[in-house]
Amino acid sequence: MEECIFCKIVAGKLPTELIHEDDVVAAFADISPMAPVHALIIPKKHLAGVNELSEEDAPVVGHMIMAAQRLARRLGVSASGYRLVINTGADATQTVPHLHVHLLGGRPLEPKLG
Ligand code: AMP
Ligand code: ZN
Repeated sequence: MEECIFCKIVAGKLPTELIHEDDVVAAFADISPMAPVHALIIPKKHLAGVNELSEEDAPVVGHMIMAAQRLARRLGVSASGYRLVINTGADATQTVPHLHVHLLGGRPLEPKLG
């Protein structure tokens, strides 16, 4: 997916500092942070979104969540709390069609979702 912005980040074609990288996922700070801690965890493999996942992608999704857990600890929000968000499709305002988990924390978040 050459034109995909997150694939470009994974490929090192954008000057984005990775705050975590392993064989399966990468993570970096959101460019328009909505909270003091706002990171994105993405699979290195291009997966468009939750709708496009198949059973064989389940380990990748699990890996993303475990990476988010470790990142939350590293970024100091494990105890205070944080939110993991995956926007899917137009009504959820998904803007980047490469699967990503938002990790949000560092302040009390709005009590209501949606
Ligand atoms: P979503 O609305 O769930 O698709 O979220 C996409 C997120 O990607 C938004 O919060 C954007 O601010 C963020 N974003 C877009 N481009 C970049 C980039 N080059 N580096 C970091 N974050 C980005
Ligand atoms: Zn991509």
